Amino acid sequence: MLLAARYVLPVSAPHIEDGAVLVRGGAIEDVGARADLEARYPAEEVRDFGLAALLPGFVDTHTHLEYTAFRGSVDDLPYSQWKMQVMSKEPALDAQDWEDSAALGAIDALSCGITTIADITSSGASARAAAAAGLRGVVYREVQTMEKHRVPEVMREAAEDIAAWRGLAPGLLAVGIAPHAPYSCHPELFLRAAELAAAESLPVAIHLAGSRDEYDFVKYGSSPLAVDFADETGGWSDVGWLPTGVSPVRYVLQWGLFRLPNVLGVHCVQVDDSDIEVLAENDVAVAYCPRCNAKLGMGTAPLQKFIERGLRVGIGTDSPASNNTVDEFDEMRIGLLIQRGMTGESAFFTAEMFIRLATLDAARALKMDGVVGSLERGKRADLVAVDLSSSHQVPTQDPYGALVHGANQENVVMTMVDGEIRYEAGRFATMDAERAMERVERMRAKLRA
Ligand SMILES: [Zn+2]
Repeated sequence: MLLAARYVLPVSAPHIEDGAVLVRGGAIEDVGARADLEARYPAEEVRDFGLAALLPGFVDTHTHLEYTAFRGSVDDLPYSQWKMQVMSKEPALDAQDWEDSAALGAIDALSCGITTIADITSSGASARAAAAAGLRGVVYREVQTMEKHRVPEVMREAAEDIAAWRGLAPGLLAVGIAPHAPYSCHPELFLRAAELAAAESLPVAIHLAGSRDEYDFVKYGSSPLAVDFADETGGWSDVGWLPTGVSPVRYVLQWGLFRLPNVLGVHCVQVDDSDIEVLAENDVAVAYCPRCNAKLGMGTAPLQKFIERGLRVGIGTDSPASNNTVDEFDEMRIGLLIQRGMTGESAFFTAEMFIRLATLDAARALKMDGVVGSLERGKRADLVAVDLSSSHQVPTQDPYGALVHGANQENVVMTMVDGEIRYEAGRFATMDAERAMERVERMRAKLRA
Protein backbone atom coordinates (compact mmCIF):
# COMPACT_ATOMS: atom_id res chain seq x y z
CA MET A 1 0.00 0.00 0.00
CA LEU A 2 1.24 3.50 -0.88
CA LEU A 3 0.27 6.05 1.76
CA ALA A 4 0.41 9.58 0.39
CA ALA A 5 -0.04 13.05 1.88
CA ARG A 6 0.93 16.69 1.42
CA TYR A 7 3.69 16.17 3.98
CA VAL A 8 5.70 13.11 4.86
CA LEU A 9 7.91 13.51 7.95
CA PRO A 10 10.45 10.69 8.16
CA VAL A 11 11.93 12.49 11.24
CA SER A 12 15.31 10.90 10.51
CA ALA A 13 15.50 12.96 7.30
CA PRO A 14 14.07 16.29 6.04
CA HIS A 15 10.34 16.32 5.36
CA ILE A 16 9.00 15.66 1.88
CA GLU A 17 6.24 17.72 0.30
CA ASP A 18 3.80 15.59 -1.67
CA GLY A 19 5.42 12.48 -0.30
CA ALA A 20 4.52 8.84 0.03
CA VAL A 21 5.42 5.77 2.08
CA LEU A 22 5.32 2.23 0.75
CA VAL A 23 4.12 -0.29 3.34
CA ARG A 24 4.35 -4.00 2.65
CA GLY A 25 4.16 -6.97 4.98
CA GLY A 26 4.15 -4.82 8.09
CA ALA A 27 7.34 -2.98 7.15
CA ILE A 28 8.26 0.29 5.48
CA GLU A 29 9.75 -0.53 2.11
CA ASP A 30 10.22 2.91 0.60
CA VAL A 31 9.82 6.61 1.41
CA GLY A 32 10.04 9.49 -1.03
CA ALA A 33 8.26 11.86 -3.40
CA ARG A 34 4.83 10.59 -4.32
CA ALA A 35 5.44 10.94 -8.05
CA ASP A 36 8.62 8.87 -7.82
CA LEU A 37 7.00 6.13 -5.75
CA GLU A 38 3.95 5.96 -8.01
CA ALA A 39 6.26 5.56 -11.01
CA ARG A 40 8.31 2.92 -9.22
CA TYR A 41 5.32 0.91 -7.97
CA PRO A 42 2.57 1.48 -10.59
CA ALA A 43 0.45 -1.48 -9.46
CA GLU A 44 0.38 -0.40 -5.79
CA GLU A 45 -2.90 0.75 -4.26
CA VAL A 46 -2.67 4.43 -3.20
CA ARG A 47 -4.26 5.84 -0.03
CA ASP A 48 -4.22 9.63 -0.27
CA PHE A 49 -4.68 11.57 2.97
CA GLY A 50 -4.64 14.93 1.22
CA LEU A 51 -3.69 17.99 3.26
CA ALA A 52 -2.25 15.92 6.08
CA ALA A 53 1.05 14.84 7.58
CA LEU A 54 2.26 11.25 7.63
CA LEU A 55 4.73 10.71 10.42
CA PRO A 56 6.02 7.91 12.64
CA GLY A 57 3.54 6.79 15.31
CA PHE A 58 4.15 8.48 18.63
CA VAL A 59 6.32 6.59 21.09
CA ASP A 60 4.94 7.35 24.55
CA THR A 61 7.67 6.76 27.11
CA HIS A 62 5.37 6.79 30.12
CA THR A 63 1.83 5.45 30.46
CA HIS A 64 -0.43 3.75 32.98
CA LEU A 65 -3.32 2.57 30.77
CA GLU A 66 -5.06 0.96 33.74
CA TYR A 67 -5.50 4.34 35.49
CA THR A 68 -7.64 5.82 32.70
CA ALA A 69 -10.83 5.53 34.79
CA PHE A 70 -9.25 7.90 37.36
CA ARG A 71 -9.51 10.74 34.86
CA GLY A 72 -10.66 13.86 36.67
CA SER A 73 -10.95 12.13 40.03
CA VAL A 74 -8.13 14.15 41.67
CA ASP A 75 -7.46 17.28 39.64
CA ASP A 76 -6.28 19.95 42.02
CA LEU A 77 -3.75 18.59 44.48
CA PRO A 78 0.04 18.63 44.48
CA TYR A 79 1.89 15.39 43.76
CA SER A 80 2.11 13.71 47.20
CA GLN A 81 -1.47 14.49 48.12
CA TRP A 82 -2.64 13.53 44.65
CA LYS A 83 -0.80 10.19 44.93
CA MET A 84 -2.35 9.42 48.32
CA GLN A 85 -5.84 10.36 47.10
CA VAL A 86 -5.49 8.12 44.05
CA MET A 87 -4.23 5.26 46.23
CA SER A 88 -7.14 5.67 48.63
CA LYS A 89 -9.56 5.20 45.71
CA GLU A 90 -7.84 2.15 44.22
CA PRO A 91 -9.54 -0.47 46.46
CA ALA A 92 -12.94 0.65 45.12
CA LEU A 93 -12.19 -0.99 41.77
CA ASP A 94 -12.52 -4.73 41.19
CA ALA A 95 -10.38 -6.78 38.83
CA GLN A 96 -12.74 -6.30 35.86
CA ASP A 97 -12.77 -2.53 36.45
CA TRP A 98 -9.00 -2.37 35.99
CA GLU A 99 -9.34 -4.30 32.72
CA ASP A 100 -12.05 -1.94 31.46
CA SER A 101 -10.07 1.10 32.55
CA ALA A 102 -6.99 -0.13 30.68
CA ALA A 103 -9.06 -0.90 27.58
CA LEU A 104 -10.17 2.73 27.43
CA GLY A 105 -6.54 3.76 27.88
CA ALA A 106 -5.52 1.69 24.87
CA ILE A 107 -8.33 3.27 22.85
CA ASP A 108 -7.14 6.73 23.89
CA ALA A 109 -3.61 5.87 22.79
CA LEU A 110 -4.61 4.61 19.33
CA SER A 111 -6.93 7.52 18.64
CA CYS A 112 -4.21 10.02 19.47
CA GLY A 113 -1.63 8.35 17.25
CA ILE A 114 0.40 6.56 19.89
CA THR A 115 1.73 3.30 18.48
CA THR A 116 4.32 2.41 21.13
CA ILE A 117 3.82 2.62 24.88
CA ALA A 118 6.07 2.16 27.89
CA ASP A 119 3.55 1.25 30.54
CA ILE A 120 3.99 0.64 34.24
CA THR A 121 1.35 -1.74 35.60
CA SER A 122 0.74 -3.70 38.77
CA SER A 123 -2.33 -5.66 37.75
CA GLY A 124 -1.31 -6.53 34.21
CA ALA A 125 -4.51 -4.98 32.87
CA SER A 126 -2.41 -2.57 30.80
CA ALA A 127 -0.51 -5.46 29.26
CA ARG A 128 -3.69 -7.29 28.30
CA ALA A 129 -5.33 -4.14 26.92
CA ALA A 130 -2.23 -3.24 24.90
CA ALA A 131 -2.10 -6.75 23.49
CA ALA A 132 -5.80 -6.68 22.58
CA ALA A 133 -5.46 -3.25 20.98
CA GLY A 134 -2.40 -4.25 19.00
CA LEU A 135 -0.11 -1.61 20.50
CA ARG A 136 3.64 -2.02 20.48
CA GLY A 137 5.84 -1.40 23.47
CA VAL A 138 7.08 -2.52 26.82
CA VAL A 139 5.01 -3.19 29.91
CA TYR A 140 6.95 -2.97 33.15
CA ARG A 141 5.69 -5.04 36.08
CA GLU A 142 5.60 -2.64 39.02
CA VAL A 143 6.99 -3.77 42.37
CA GLN A 144 6.98 -1.95 45.67
CA THR A 145 7.34 -2.55 49.38
CA MET A 146 9.18 -0.76 52.14
CA GLU A 147 9.16 -3.89 54.28
CA LYS A 148 12.26 -6.00 53.82
CA HIS A 149 10.61 -9.25 54.89
CA ARG A 150 8.05 -8.89 52.08
CA VAL A 151 10.64 -8.54 49.30
CA PRO A 152 10.93 -12.27 48.42
CA GLU A 153 7.16 -12.60 48.12
CA VAL A 154 6.83 -9.41 46.03
CA MET A 155 9.61 -10.57 43.71
CA ARG A 156 8.18 -14.08 43.36
CA GLU A 157 4.80 -12.71 42.29
CA ALA A 158 6.44 -10.29 39.88
CA ALA A 159 8.53 -13.04 38.28
CA GLU A 160 5.39 -15.13 37.74
CA ASP A 161 3.56 -12.23 36.09
CA ILE A 162 6.52 -11.38 33.89
CA ALA A 163 6.70 -14.96 32.64
CA ALA A 164 2.95 -14.99 31.93
CA TRP A 165 2.80 -11.59 30.20
CA ARG A 166 5.57 -12.50 27.79
CA GLY A 167 3.12 -14.65 25.88
CA LEU A 168 0.53 -11.91 25.40
CA ALA A 169 1.82 -10.37 22.19
CA PRO A 170 5.22 -11.74 21.23
CA GLY A 171 6.97 -9.48 18.77
CA LEU A 172 4.95 -6.43 19.80
CA LEU A 173 5.09 -6.32 23.61
CA ALA A 174 8.20 -6.76 25.71
CA VAL A 175 8.00 -7.14 29.48
CA GLY A 176 10.14 -5.33 32.02
CA ILE A 177 10.23 -4.55 35.71
CA ALA A 178 9.57 -1.26 37.53
CA PRO A 179 10.49 -0.68 41.16
CA HIS A 180 7.93 2.05 41.86
CA ALA A 181 9.92 4.92 43.40
CA PRO A 182 12.63 5.71 45.96
CA TYR A 183 9.97 6.44 48.60
CA SER A 184 8.15 3.13 48.23
CA CYS A 185 10.88 0.52 47.72
CA HIS A 186 13.16 -1.03 50.33
CA PRO A 187 16.79 -1.09 49.12
CA GLU A 188 16.61 -4.89 49.16
CA LEU A 189 13.86 -4.64 46.54
CA PHE A 190 16.10 -2.56 44.28
CA LEU A 191 18.84 -5.17 44.62
CA ARG A 192 16.54 -8.12 43.85
CA ALA A 193 14.83 -6.32 40.98
CA ALA A 194 18.23 -5.50 39.48
CA GLU A 195 19.22 -9.14 39.86
CA LEU A 196 16.11 -10.38 38.04
CA ALA A 197 16.48 -7.76 35.32
CA ALA A 198 20.10 -8.79 34.74
CA ALA A 199 19.27 -12.51 34.71
CA GLU A 200 16.36 -12.14 32.29
CA SER A 201 17.54 -9.11 30.25
CA LEU A 202 14.55 -7.07 31.35
CA PRO A 203 14.15 -3.37 30.64
CA VAL A 204 13.73 -1.36 33.84
CA ALA A 205 11.71 1.74 34.66
CA ILE A 206 11.51 3.76 37.87
CA HIS A 207 9.66 6.91 38.89
CA LEU A 208 12.67 9.00 39.88
CA ALA A 209 13.24 12.45 41.39
CA GLY A 210 9.66 13.30 40.54
CA SER A 211 8.82 15.81 43.24
CA ARG A 212 10.28 18.00 45.94
CA ASP A 213 8.54 15.85 48.54
CA GLU A 214 10.36 12.78 47.23
CA TYR A 215 13.65 14.68 47.29
CA ASP A 216 13.08 15.82 50.89
CA PHE A 217 12.00 12.33 51.90
CA VAL A 218 15.16 10.71 50.55
CA LYS A 219 17.66 13.38 51.55
CA TYR A 220 16.24 14.67 54.83
CA GLY A 221 13.75 11.97 55.87
CA SER A 222 11.02 14.59 55.90
CA SER A 223 7.96 15.60 53.80
CA PRO A 224 4.43 14.17 53.74
CA LEU A 225 5.83 11.02 52.11
CA ALA A 226 7.63 10.19 55.36
CA VAL A 227 4.57 10.84 57.50
CA ASP A 228 1.15 10.56 55.86
CA PHE A 229 2.18 8.22 53.06
CA ALA A 230 3.94 5.84 55.45
CA ASP A 231 1.15 5.97 58.02
CA GLU A 232 -2.02 5.87 56.06
CA THR A 233 -1.44 4.60 52.59
CA GLY A 234 1.90 2.87 52.49
CA GLY A 235 1.31 0.94 55.70
CA TRP A 236 4.98 0.79 56.60
CA SER A 237 5.15 3.32 59.41
CA ASP A 238 6.83 0.70 61.62
CA VAL A 239 9.78 0.65 59.23
CA GLY A 240 12.52 3.05 60.30
CA TRP A 241 13.44 5.58 57.62
CA LEU A 242 16.51 7.70 58.19
CA PRO A 243 17.71 10.67 56.16
CA THR A 244 20.19 9.48 53.55
CA GLY A 245 21.78 12.86 52.91
CA VAL A 246 21.81 12.31 49.17
CA SER A 247 19.51 13.07 46.23
CA PRO A 248 17.06 10.45 44.93
CA VAL A 249 19.29 9.81 41.90
CA ARG A 250 22.39 9.22 44.05
CA TYR A 251 20.35 7.12 46.47
CA VAL A 252 19.10 4.76 43.75
CA LEU A 253 22.60 4.64 42.25
CA GLN A 254 23.77 2.84 45.40
CA TRP A 255 21.42 -0.08 44.84
CA GLY A 256 22.65 -1.38 41.52
CA LEU A 257 19.75 -0.54 39.26
CA PHE A 258 21.64 1.91 37.05
CA ARG A 259 24.25 -0.68 36.11
CA LEU A 260 21.67 -2.40 33.91
CA PRO A 261 21.76 -1.68 30.18
CA ASN A 262 18.17 -0.48 29.64
CA VAL A 263 16.91 1.79 32.42
CA LEU A 264 14.30 4.51 32.12
CA GLY A 265 13.95 7.20 34.80
CA VAL A 266 10.47 8.69 34.78
CA HIS A 267 10.10 12.45 35.49
CA CYS A 268 13.66 13.26 36.72
CA VAL A 269 12.55 16.76 37.65
CA GLN A 270 14.38 17.27 40.95
CA VAL A 271 17.89 16.77 39.60
CA ASP A 272 21.01 18.91 39.76
CA ASP A 273 24.07 18.87 37.49
CA SER A 274 25.71 16.10 39.48
CA ASP A 275 22.56 13.94 39.22
CA ILE A 276 22.48 14.51 35.48
CA GLU A 277 26.11 13.40 35.39
CA VAL A 278 25.14 10.17 37.19
CA LEU A 279 22.31 9.55 34.70
CA ALA A 280 24.64 10.24 31.77
CA GLU A 281 27.49 8.07 33.06
CA ASN A 282 25.07 5.18 33.54
CA ASP A 283 23.16 5.78 30.28
CA VAL A 284 19.85 6.10 32.13
CA ALA A 285 17.17 7.40 29.77
CA VAL A 286 14.54 9.94 30.83
CA ALA A 287 10.78 9.98 30.28
CA TYR A 288 10.00 13.68 30.04
CA CYS A 289 6.38 14.27 31.16
CA PRO A 290 5.95 18.06 30.93
CA ARG A 291 2.21 18.30 31.44
CA CYS A 292 1.97 15.95 34.42
CA ASN A 293 5.06 17.54 36.00
CA ALA A 294 3.44 20.97 35.71
CA LYS A 295 -0.08 19.96 36.68
CA LEU A 296 0.97 18.25 39.91
CA GLY A 297 3.45 20.97 40.82
CA MET A 298 6.37 18.56 40.56
CA GLY A 299 8.71 20.99 38.86
CA THR A 300 10.30 21.43 35.46
CA ALA A 301 12.78 18.95 34.00
CA PRO A 302 16.02 20.57 32.76
CA LEU A 303 15.53 19.29 29.22
CA GLN A 304 18.26 21.43 27.71
CA LYS A 305 20.83 20.03 30.14
CA PHE A 306 19.66 16.47 29.47
CA ILE A 307 20.18 16.97 25.76
CA GLU A 308 23.51 18.77 26.14
CA ARG A 309 24.79 15.91 28.28
CA GLY A 310 23.63 13.39 25.67
CA LEU A 311 20.90 11.69 27.70
CA ARG A 312 18.34 9.67 25.80
CA VAL A 313 15.06 11.54 26.36
CA GLY A 314 11.53 11.06 25.05
CA ILE A 315 8.13 12.48 25.84
CA GLY A 316 5.72 10.60 28.12
CA THR A 317 2.07 11.41 28.70
CA ASP A 318 1.69 9.63 32.07
CA SER A 319 -1.89 8.58 32.88
CA PRO A 320 -5.28 10.30 32.70
CA ALA A 321 -5.24 10.09 36.53
CA SER A 322 -2.77 12.96 36.43
CA ASN A 323 -3.14 14.35 32.95
CA ASN A 324 -6.79 13.96 32.02
CA THR A 325 -6.21 13.58 28.30
CA VAL A 326 -3.67 11.49 26.47
CA ASP A 327 -2.70 13.94 23.77
CA GLU A 328 0.81 13.95 22.38
CA PHE A 329 0.15 17.27 20.67
CA ASP A 330 -0.69 18.95 23.98
CA GLU A 331 2.34 17.27 25.49
CA MET A 332 4.69 18.54 22.76
CA ARG A 333 3.17 22.00 22.75
CA ILE A 334 3.14 22.48 26.52
CA GLY A 335 6.60 20.98 26.86
CA LEU A 336 7.98 23.30 24.22
CA LEU A 337 6.34 26.37 25.72
CA ILE A 338 7.53 25.53 29.24
CA GLN A 339 11.08 25.04 28.01
CA ARG A 340 11.08 28.23 25.95
CA GLY A 341 9.67 30.08 28.93
CA MET A 342 12.41 28.67 31.14
CA THR A 343 15.44 29.01 28.91
CA GLY A 344 14.53 32.23 27.15
CA GLU A 345 16.43 33.04 24.01
CA SER A 346 19.64 31.27 24.95
CA ALA A 347 18.45 27.76 24.13
CA PHE A 348 15.46 27.79 21.86
CA PHE A 349 13.57 24.59 21.22
CA THR A 350 11.95 24.15 17.80
CA ALA A 351 8.77 22.33 16.85
CA GLU A 352 10.86 19.87 14.86
CA MET A 353 12.87 19.00 17.99
CA PHE A 354 9.64 18.24 19.84
CA ILE A 355 8.30 16.02 17.04
CA ARG A 356 11.58 14.14 17.38
CA LEU A 357 11.22 13.90 21.18
CA ALA A 358 7.82 12.28 20.66
CA THR A 359 9.02 9.80 18.02
CA LEU A 360 12.64 8.91 17.25
CA ASP A 361 14.18 10.24 20.47
CA ALA A 362 11.48 8.46 22.48
CA ALA A 363 12.24 5.24 20.62
CA ARG A 364 15.93 5.73 21.48
CA ALA A 365 15.00 6.24 25.12
CA LEU A 366 13.37 2.79 25.03
CA LYS A 367 16.16 1.32 22.87
CA MET A 368 13.59 0.60 20.17
CA ASP A 369 14.94 2.99 17.55
CA GLY A 370 16.20 0.09 15.46
CA VAL A 371 12.58 -0.96 14.97
CA VAL A 372 10.40 2.18 15.08
CA GLY A 373 10.54 5.95 15.64
CA SER A 374 11.14 7.12 12.08
CA LEU A 375 9.91 6.42 8.56
CA GLU A 376 12.83 4.55 7.12
CA ARG A 377 13.15 1.59 4.84
CA GLY A 378 13.36 -1.58 6.91
CA LYS A 379 11.63 -0.27 10.01
CA ARG A 380 8.26 -1.61 11.08
CA ALA A 381 5.29 0.27 9.65
CA ASP A 382 4.09 2.22 12.68
CA LEU A 383 2.74 5.50 11.39
CA VAL A 384 0.00 8.04 11.72
CA ALA A 385 -1.84 10.44 9.45
CA VAL A 386 -2.70 13.81 10.96
CA ASP A 387 -5.18 15.99 9.12
CA LEU A 388 -4.10 19.61 8.68
CA SER A 389 -7.04 20.88 6.67
CA SER A 390 -9.22 22.37 9.45
CA SER A 391 -9.97 26.07 9.50
CA HIS A 392 -7.66 26.56 12.48
CA GLN A 393 -4.76 25.01 10.56
CA VAL A 394 -4.95 26.47 7.05
CA PRO A 395 -2.61 27.61 5.61
CA THR A 396 0.22 25.34 6.69
CA GLN A 397 3.62 26.90 6.19
CA ASP A 398 5.70 24.38 8.05
CA PRO A 399 4.43 20.90 8.92
CA TYR A 400 6.35 20.68 12.22
CA GLY A 401 4.90 23.95 13.44
CA ALA A 402 1.44 23.01 12.17
CA LEU A 403 1.57 19.77 14.20
CA VAL A 404 3.09 21.12 17.40
CA HIS A 405 1.42 24.52 17.57
CA GLY A 406 -1.87 23.84 15.82
CA ALA A 407 -2.94 20.19 15.95
CA ASN A 408 -4.75 18.09 18.54
CA GLN A 409 -5.57 14.42 19.02
CA GLU A 410 -8.85 14.98 17.14
CA ASN A 411 -6.81 15.62 14.00
CA VAL A 412 -5.36 12.09 13.98
CA VAL A 413 -7.22 10.32 11.18
CA MET A 414 -5.31 7.04 10.96
CA THR A 415 -3.07 5.01 13.24
CA MET A 416 -1.13 2.04 11.88
CA VAL A 417 0.86 -0.44 13.93
CA ASP A 418 3.02 -3.07 12.26
CA GLY A 419 1.42 -2.37 8.91
CA GLU A 420 -2.14 -2.83 10.22
CA ILE A 421 -4.60 0.04 10.50
CA ARG A 422 -5.77 -0.04 14.14
CA TYR A 423 -7.72 3.20 14.05
CA GLU A 424 -9.22 5.24 11.25
CA ALA A 425 -11.71 8.09 11.22
CA GLY A 426 -13.26 7.32 14.61
CA ARG A 427 -13.34 3.55 14.15
CA PHE A 428 -11.18 1.02 15.94
CA ALA A 429 -10.22 -2.24 14.26
CA THR A 430 -9.38 -4.01 17.51
CA MET A 431 -11.39 -2.31 20.27
CA ASP A 432 -15.02 -1.60 21.16
CA ALA A 433 -14.83 2.07 22.17
CA GLU A 434 -18.52 2.47 22.97
CA ARG A 435 -18.48 -0.45 25.36
CA ALA A 436 -15.26 0.73 27.02
CA MET A 437 -16.65 4.21 27.63
CA GLU A 438 -19.90 2.86 29.01
CA ARG A 439 -18.05 0.56 31.45
CA VAL A 440 -15.74 3.30 32.66
CA GLU A 441 -18.65 5.70 33.04
CA ARG A 442 -20.21 3.15 35.40
CA MET A 443 -17.13 3.35 37.67
CA ARG A 444 -17.70 7.03 38.29
CA ALA A 445 -19.62 6.57 41.53
CA LYS A 446 -16.99 4.16 42.91
CA LEU A 447 -14.25 6.73 42.39
CA ARG A 448 -16.13 9.72 43.65
CA ALA A 449 -16.01 8.80 47.34
ZN1 LIG B 1 3.86 7.14 36.40
